[in-house]
Amino acid sequence: MKQGLTRHRERSARIQIDGEALRHNLGRVKAYAPSSKVMAVIKANAYGHDVLAAASYLDAADAFALAMPAEAVALRRAGCSRPLIVLQGFANQEELKLCSRYDLQPVIHQQWQAELLYSTSRFSLDVWLKIDTGMHRLGVPLEAVDQAYQTLKSAAVVHSIQFMSHFANADDPSHLLNNKQLESFINVIPESDAQRSIANSAAVISNVSSHLEWVRPGIMLYGSSPLLERSAEELDLRPVMQFESRLAAIQYVRKGETIGYGSTWQCPEDMPVGVVAAGYGDGYPRHAPSGTPVWINGHLCPSVGRVSMDSICVDLRGVDASHGDRAVLWGRELSVDTVASHAGTISYELLCHAGNTANLG
Ligand SMILES: *Cc1c(COP(=O)(O)O)cnc(C)c1O
Repeated sequence: MKQGLTRHRERSARIQIDGEALRHNLGRVKAYAPSSKVMAVIKANAYGHDVLAAASYLDAADAFALAMPAEAVALRRAGCSRPLIVLQGFANQEELKLCSRYDLQPVIHQQWQAELLYSTSRFSLDVWLKIDTGMHRLGVPLEAVDQAYQTLKSAAVVHSIQFMSHFANADDPSHLLNNKQLESFINVIPESDAQRSIANSAAVISNVSSHLEWVRPGIMLYGSSPLLERSAEELDLRPVMQFESRLAAIQYVRKGETIGYGSTWQCPEDMPVGVVAAGYGDGYPRHAPSGTPVWINGHLCPSVGRVSMDSICVDLRGVDASHGDRAVLWGRELSVDTVASHAGTISYELLCHAGNTANLG
């Protein structure tokens, strides 16, 4: 991505993408779900990993899923010939035309979309019907599936209909809603030989009966654990995004002095404090509290004080470090999942945000 390659060239913080790790993680999906086809989810610029690069490393996927038609168009125009599924479908007639022109498979989640297809002619589309089985975000309610299906069935432009739903709690395999959603989904589908998809990453790993014909993993491809109780390492998922910078300075600060904006952290003794050249201007989460680790020379150094726009201060007590040393915000040495749990968020947000902010390369 040209824009990605040129943005923030002058900054120290940078992101690199490990294509072999992406391939490996796709292999893990196939090992978990050997009888299903894989629709690799690469929305939001492949969760911040550069969608064109990600799609090229994920060439063993059977299809790709994006959120919006424009994202899929960009990928198609870059030469991708795989089936492209548009998870939010089309928002209007113009977007429907894009779906036709670029051979995209829209997800139909509201009756008006089915009706727009019904009133259209001249082209042919493969579509997905999204069914709301309990997430209550996108999807046709269970009691309205038959109507939407009949409308699509009688629309001349609709070449084939496949079926999709989405779990609300797959990250917690013991949640009772999971099997309820799966049962509702399977029971409401009006065709006996349907192509069906409900499993996101968490369900790929923890719910074999949800695999069906198509699995739809996102986060596990990028090497983060989709399950609350399991680490990426235990699941043999490899981190794809390497987010690093350098130690810009080391300060020796006296006992009782405070660090950074708001003076939120006080030195318990005379101590060395490292200044890492990365901050929220590079996509590092500002709300990561003191204690969030940064990897430097084999040590996980706790952050001290607030994250600034261009820098993070870290506790260097007991660490042999000098100005210019590598500092890893997350990646191979430190899981993004660890940083996310300190920051009170999920890896998805950190990856999308830093990946779409920091310098790639
Ligand atoms: C983002 C998304 C996925 C992928 O979910 P992960 O938790 O990242 O595996 C699958 N399906 C839909 C509809 C999505 O929006």
